Amino acid sequence: MSEQKIHNVIIIGSGPAGLTAALYTGRANLSPLVFEGMQPGGQLTITTEVENYPGFEHGIMGPELMDVMRKQAQRFGADCQFKYVDKVDFSSRPFKMTVGGQEYLSNAVIIATGASARLLGLPSESEFMGFGVSACATCDGFFFKDQRIIVIGGGDTAMEEANYLTKFGKEVSIVHRRDEFRASKIMLERAQKNPKIKLVTNTVLEEVIGLNENGRKKVTAARLKNVVTGETTVQEVEGIFLGIGHKPNTDIFKGQIELEDTGYIKTSKVNTYTNITGVFACGDAQDHVYRQAITAAGSGCMAAIDVERYLETLHD
Ligand code: NDP
Repeated sequence: MSEQKIHNVIIIGSGPAGLTAALYTGRANLSPLVFEGMQPGGQLTITTEVENYPGFEHGIMGPELMDVMRKQAQRFGADCQFKYVDKVDFSSRPFKMTVGGQEYLSNAVIIATGASARLLGLPSESEFMGFGVSACATCDGFFFKDQRIIVIGGGDTAMEEANYLTKFGKEVSIVHRRDEFRASKIMLERAQKNPKIKLVTNTVLEEVIGLNENGRKKVTAARLKNVVTGETTVQEVEGIFLGIGHKPNTDIFKGQIELEDTGYIKTSKVNTYTNITGVFACGDAQDHVYRQAITAAGSGCMAAIDVERYLETLHD
């Protein structure tokens, strides 16, 4: 029976972090194997235009950017497979990963599984995602100059996004389901003092209303419901931002590596090492602060360099 292949490095995830790690480990002749997951390309594949990724003077569509990143990594030998890792076992070496019943072994692992914005789950929300509905003010705020915007949520993300959006929007309403805010006092006060922000409490978004003419979609209004009175209103808006939090995609690592209480992977403050030597983490799976494509890509590069140096120590 032939011996099972041991890979140098397996990268789990294919957003900017995973694919940058693939590019760098590819160029280091490590022949990385990338398991792309359920959503190859990650969160950028659900945005439209990306204007803040350096190197693209006139912007680039999110899916196109990820396609180019994948091709660039493949040019240097990255093997990108549209597969989902079901299970990992980091308790012994080489590390084990189970993918659709098949087991893969690797000397090093880079976790780049990212995070997903929490969504409300309304059909109209997914219909208009990227066409007026967004979960990232930094990415999409610029498209809403002088327009009317709603931000859903009552935590720090909602406050921060609303404040940021007042740079662009004509008016911003924070719509929150309760009358008490989870946000920190300072962030809430900042929002309360901002003349462009209106706080709407005890209210939920029931439906995103918009136009869909020959595939050209845009948001025109939001149907809101007051949960105390039961009253329903239709508010004209062009933008709806979801600020109800993010969830790191780290469920399969529970019990295998150290996670924060919030589910984010704990990494060293100076590099991408996790508590298991040989397992590295980068991108949004370990970063709840910056969450940008460029910072994810930067940490993917760091993880690749950390892997390269780590693998050298195995040969010493
Ligand atoms: P939080 O979990 O703190 O808040 C989520 C908010 O969304 C809550 O108000 C919650 O309502 C609401 N919400 C959740 N699900 C729904 C739903 N289905 N329908 C309607 N509303 C919903 O998440 P955040 O992303 O705001 O913050 C996460 C962490 O990151 C926090 O620790 C925060 O302090 C930190 N952070 C810090 C920032 C900073 O310091 N600059 C910026 C952003 C985040 P309810 O309150 O009723 O549960």
